[in-house]
Amino acid sequence: MVSSLHHPSIALISVHGDPSVDIGREEAGGQNVYVRQVGEALARLEWDVSMFTRQTHADQPQVVEHLPNCRTIRLTAGPEDFVPRDDIFDYLPVFVQEFLHYQRSTGHVFPLIHTNYWLSSWVGMQLKQHQAVQQVHTYHSVGAVKYQSMDAIPAIATTRLEVERRCLETAERVVATSPQERDHLRSLVSSYGRVDVIPCGTDIERFGHVSMAAARQALGLAADAKVVFYVGRFDPRKGIETVVRAVGQSHLRQDERLRLIIGGGSRPGHSDGRERDRIEGLVADLGLQDQTWFPGRISDEDLPLYYAAADVCVVPSHYEPFGLVTIEAMASSTPVVASDVGGLQYTVVPGETGLLAPVRDAEAFAQAIDQILSQPDWRDQLGRAARDRVVDYFSWDGVAIQLDRLYRKLLLGADARYLNQVGA
Ligand code: UDP
Repeated sequence: MVSSLHHPSIALISVHGDPSVDIGREEAGGQNVYVRQVGEALARLEWDVSMFTRQTHADQPQVVEHLPNCRTIRLTAGPEDFVPRDDIFDYLPVFVQEFLHYQRSTGHVFPLIHTNYWLSSWVGMQLKQHQAVQQVHTYHSVGAVKYQSMDAIPAIATTRLEVERRCLETAERVVATSPQERDHLRSLVSSYGRVDVIPCGTDIERFGHVSMAAARQALGLAADAKVVFYVGRFDPRKGIETVVRAVGQSHLRQDERLRLIIGGGSRPGHSDGRERDRIEGLVADLGLQDQTWFPGRISDEDLPLYYAAADVCVVPSHYEPFGLVTIEAMASSTPVVASDVGGLQYTVVPGETGLLAPVRDAEAFAQAIDQILSQPDWRDQLGRAARDRVVDYFSWDGVAIQLDRLYRKLLLGADARYLNQVGA
């Protein structure tokens, strides 16, 4: 089949990261945002985009339309319930069968798939045994890196590492989201395979258009508050403990204007509740209850206000291949203090758009936060440079243009091979 390059079609496969759910709860985070934003941006570039994921509740619709040519399609594979990602592997063969069934029943065979996270990479590699399809893959998290910083390695690790290696060596293209991720893939996974660096993006229209004063008023914060902001999943690897301890050691600790906002997380009883309880306990142990605010999951509408209201956004992760929160804050002209690891070394330019601190080093984080909070003019200067950097390098539309170019090159290559084979 010669694929149409006018309205080409693509399947984005994200087995455990549903692109249409509320972000910020349980395991929903950067991958969900990435798939949805890439899908919608590609649709604006005339692609017909189907985003496949796993049904996790019986009452979810099977299809969610985002744009006329962009939709989420939920396949039933395993329980119609939340399953932690480390327990999903056994359901993947059914996911593959359901995908094939979808193609048969609609008569639409995808020439190109972009898989996300190692679980989906396995699905992609299986599909290649059934049909002529090219695979692009984004890791979102690399097992070989992640397991370095974990005390208890899960039982699935051996399988994951093998699948990640095979995918790197066989996918038509791997998209690393930062040069740091590419280097880790090369040094820790395999020296074979084709890797392009195409970053993640953010919506530069959504962020950066509300003043700090207006945002603080809308959120009920004092105009002269000193606001330190974290947002993300409640997962020990996100390093929330470090920002809490850093605020506990800050010079401004006794300043009654100091506010620590820790956004994200589900309601009690969900899988991320244990970390939330632990962090709340730490806040209490350090006597920071009066200065700390846990607003819970922050909606799409409110998120720009929180970033704009903050003096500094802290990203204390133990590791990030990219880290969307960083560029969302930067797009909002808010400087970032981040761990000196992975993709955070790519997005944050120390001394220009924020500061980097050694991972888990609460004292270094405290110093960096104090440096920014105590110099408002410098803070503003960092914020302006941060916004410029995102506009130049990390807008979703810019990212989608790079992906569009890559996909078209692959489809053209496949067509050329096909035409050679049939002697046209
Ligand atoms: N997020 C959100 N509301 C929340 C918590 C998180 O919208 O309450 C979003 C956040 O804005 C970002 C994503 O979830 O877009 C987290 O992505 P990131 O790459 O920083 O971390 P990951 O979840 O991939 O570890």
